[in-house]
Amino acid sequence: MSLDREARERLVRALARSVIEHADELTSLDQAIGDGDHGLNMKRGFEAVLAALPDLADKSLPEMLKVIGMTLVMKVGGASGPLVGTFFMELGKALPEQSTRADLVAATEKAINAVKVRGRSEAGQKTLLDVLVPVQAVLAGGGDAKAIAAEAVQAADRTIPMLAIRGRASFLGERSVGHMDPGSRSASLLIRAAVETLESEVDS
Ligand code: ADP
Ligand code: MG
Repeated sequence: MSLDREARERLVRALARSVIEHADELTSLDQAIGDGDHGLNMKRGFEAVLAALPDLADKSLPEMLKVIGMTLVMKVGGASGPLVGTFFMELGKALPEQSTRADLVAATEKAINAVKVRGRSEAGQKTLLDVLVPVQAVLAGGGDAKAIAAEAVQAADRTIPMLAIRGRASFLGERSVGHMDPGSRSASLLIRAAVETLESEVDS
């Protein structure tokens, strides 16, 4: 996988659009089991990322991902900012400039492990890891772009019956059951946007 400048810019715009266009939905999800700021947090972060274009796309893919990650850590805030930001930064650190699918598998695994350390969390606790982990497994198992995008949507849906044991939603105990985790929804939107933009690279 090697993205030219135009493809890198397309990727950044698609990622940003995916969460900005769904900010109200993310807000409602976070109003149900959190404090209602997730939509605005993510929107603020990705507006800052968009503001860094076009310079951002002049960088190599790994460098671009690192800058996106740092921007998200600084601008998103909340619990999700450092976690989503860590994912992008570590992905950038782990990806070589010319990356194969195997490199992407290894780099996403490293990035997810960094999120786990940062959040002191694991899959199964009703957080964005409940999307990242199963989607990465589909990628590692050779799934194509369609399978990866479908898993992202299904994994976010599977957080609905879960009991939250990390993050603000965990304060609700049993009342966290029956609602989709907002961070899982934003992760699934970002994954779908990335996969749709990179379809030909993912499948090659
Ligand atoms: P805050 O909870 O501080 O208001 P946000 O609303 O922006 O922050 O983000 C909430 C999301 O962050 C949750 O839906 C969950 O997916 C994710 N999250 C929160 N805490 C953790 C954690 N310890 N590990 C992994 N993800 C977490
Ligand atoms: Mg919140």
